Amino acid sequence: MHFEPSAEDRVFRDELRAWLAANWPEDWARVRGRFASQDEQFAFLRQWQRRLRDAGWVGLQWPREYGGRGATIMQQAIFYEETARARAPELPNVIGLDMAGPALIAHGTDAQKRAHLPKILSAEEIFCQGFSEPDAGSDLAALQTRAVRDGDHLVVNGQKVWTTYAQYAEWCILLARTDPAAPRHRGLTFLLVDMRSPGLSVRPLRQISGEPEFNEMFFDNVRVPLENVVGRVHGGWEVAITTLMFERGPRTISRQLHLRHAIDAALEMARRIERGGAPAASDPVIRQRLAQLVIDGEALRFSNLRALTRMLRGEPPGPEGSAAKLFWSEAVQRVLELMLEIEGPHAMLAQGSARAIEDGFWQLRFLRSRGDTIAAGTSEINRNILGERVLGLPKD
Ligand SMILES: Cc1cc2nc3c(=O)[nH]c(=O)nc-3n(C[C@H](O)[C@H](O)[C@H](O)COP(=O)(O)OP(=O)(O)OC[C@H]3O[C@@H](n4cnc5c(N)ncnc54)[C@H](O)[C@@H]3O)c2cc1C
Repeated sequence: MHFEPSAEDRVFRDELRAWLAANWPEDWARVRGRFASQDEQFAFLRQWQRRLRDAGWVGLQWPREYGGRGATIMQQAIFYEETARARAPELPNVIGLDMAGPALIAHGTDAQKRAHLPKILSAEEIFCQGFSEPDAGSDLAALQTRAVRDGDHLVVNGQKVWTTYAQYAEWCILLARTDPAAPRHRGLTFLLVDMRSPGLSVRPLRQISGEPEFNEMFFDNVRVPLENVVGRVHGGWEVAITTLMFERGPRTISRQLHLRHAIDAALEMARRIERGGAPAASDPVIRQRLAQLVIDGEALRFSNLRALTRMLRGEPPGPEGSAAKLFWSEAVQRVLELMLEIEGPHAMLAQGSARAIEDGFWQLRFLRSRGDTIAAGTSEINRNILGERVLGLPKD
């Protein structure tokens, strides 16, 4: 595959670079540090997304009639590359942009698209994803939350868990069982649920990093109008699969750059921090591990380019999405483990301690990275997919 950008792509890249340089959010360094609460950070990120939307940088591949830009996959990839390179803040409406929006574009009614797509872009409607339950995660089709027809409504009862940013969300994409007699994948329905609905409650869960990023959600006779069904009643599995495919879309490209940033930080730390009177980088074992990480970063870059090639050819995502997710999440953990080893006893000091290196930033990242090998498909599940689809091993 030939990756030389076209003249149009070069103009797009230059414009974006110039915009990011001129609109850099000065306050970001303070907000992302420990002096701002998660609530303050989230409010900041909403404003940041709105600024990008106003300048036409959000919803790049979405149709123009719903507020998108009608751009190409390559331009979307350039956007992820440039924002990662500039270390720009992430957009907060990830579920809206990567899951709910694409699901509505593929399966929604015109009224649903008009009502939600522009507000997803402007971050007026943050979406959360109500799929996982206490007894249904990797095996999503085991979910038990029920939705029962009552006139022109569905009445929802049940519990969801690990719902990222439900405490900030205006809407939820919910997968519920509408036909318990049907085979597991056939009796599910995909719903848009207003988070202000009576009977819906959210209880934050504190993660190992100390932040309540995800939540439990309880549904007690929550009434959802039938017009909020996306696709067919009982046809929710197809819609859910669309969302999961987009979870492995062009955004994965930016992961390799975030990994590279962490590797660069590890290299810099190894040169700066001394062990036994010499920089850690002079220790042959540490040097070897750093070199391996740089090789890993490059391997992921090439793997992402292979995935991008498939997307540009219009082919469906292949198993390289699973390989890249597995490899990225485990590589990030390896980098962070090495950084804490380089920090030595300082690694035990938490954020806020006067002697913590870089105010304990890498300790927090290390703790948060444990979730990366669980969310969006655990390492074991991704290994099963690779075993079956690439190596042709018998089914799990
Ligand atoms: C940071 C974070 C954010 C999340 N955000 C959301 C969200 O917004 N919305 C949402 O719906 N969910 C969310 N999740 C949930 C996530 O999708 C699930 O945690 C994940 O699918 C795993 O499900 P589980 O936790 O029920 O574990 P289980 O599926 O119960 O798995 C437990 C263990 O068994 C292993 N295992 C399971 N099945 C197999 C098998 N067949 N072969 C081998 N090993 C197996 C797993 O790998 C794991 O180690 C989030 C999770 C995290 C960590």
